[in-house]
Amino acid sequence: MFNSLGDRFQDIFKKVSGQGRLTESNIKDALREVRLALLEADVNYGVAKNFVAKIRDKAVGEEVIKGVNPAQQFVKIVNDELVEVLGGTNVTIAKSAKPPTVVMLTGLQGAGKTTFSAKLGKYLKKKGEKPFLIGADVYRPAAKKQIKVLGEQTGISAFTIDESTNVLEICKAGMEKAKEENATYVIFDTAGRLHIDEQLMNELKEIKENFHPDEILLVVDGMTGQDAVNVAKTFNEDLDISGVVLTKLDGDTRGGAALSIKEVSGKPIKFISDGEKLDDVSAFHPDRLASRILG
Ligand code: GDP
Repeated sequence: MFNSLGDRFQDIFKKVSGQGRLTESNIKDALREVRLALLEADVNYGVAKNFVAKIRDKAVGEEVIKGVNPAQQFVKIVNDELVEVLGGTNVTIAKSAKPPTVVMLTGLQGAGKTTFSAKLGKYLKKKGEKPFLIGADVYRPAAKKQIKVLGEQTGISAFTIDESTNVLEICKAGMEKAKEENATYVIFDTAGRLHIDEQLMNELKEIKENFHPDEILLVVDGMTGQDAVNVAKTFNEDLDISGVVLTKLDGDTRGGAALSIKEVSGKPIKFISDGEKLDDVSAFHPDRLASRILG
């Protein structure tokens, strides 16, 4: 994950080492290279610019701590800033005081939303919760079947109405069934489109107004870089999402989406998915990802 960005940072750190003190002039080159490395990793331009400015402010004039060389000090500053840009701390999934907690999953078609509904179900089940899936994607031909198969694979109740194209009807009947089963989490798998359009947003707004979700998670494909960031920005403006799920981090992704989404959309990444298997999911911890990037 993010190998080339990690390698670039290692090269930059090597160049900084061997210098007596961090000063404006001796870190100038390093800062320029950090900026280029971020842009090459497809980080949003403004985010990269702020990142470098913050490192410069912190690094210049900082006293060299005894026993810690300038390179180590620089690495620490970069690490801290990476953690910050990734969102600071882990933000856990909401849990309603009055179960079931309603989680609405949204996103463009192919982002990994339906797969993530089962991954989240499994994740919650391991934590002792009783999840319940509702297949409310009435447009993608295989989505309803897929949610039922995923339900069978995971042993999690999965509800849909095959013959209905009325999303609200499916969600309402599903909610009733979930309550009958004493589910503690209800997960709506909503429809995606290839592109954001008004009809998609209106349908999502209707679900939001009718079922007051405790979480609206946007599932985005991490491989799509700045497109994912733009999708997050738009969905947040239209729906006021509560968090982002970044998928396909097992692929050859450069890291731009992960490093830009929080700052551009204002919403935290809550989960990451890094494989097609249903256990390939984890809660997002900015510090862990920063350490992985820096090696
Ligand atoms: P949806 O249209 O958003 O519901 O997308 P799907 O859940 O059907 O996923 C689309 C494709 O992406 C499927 O082939 C999934 O197996 C695959 N996929 C989902 N998440 C991941 C992931 O984290 N890594 C990889 N490699 N593939 C994934």
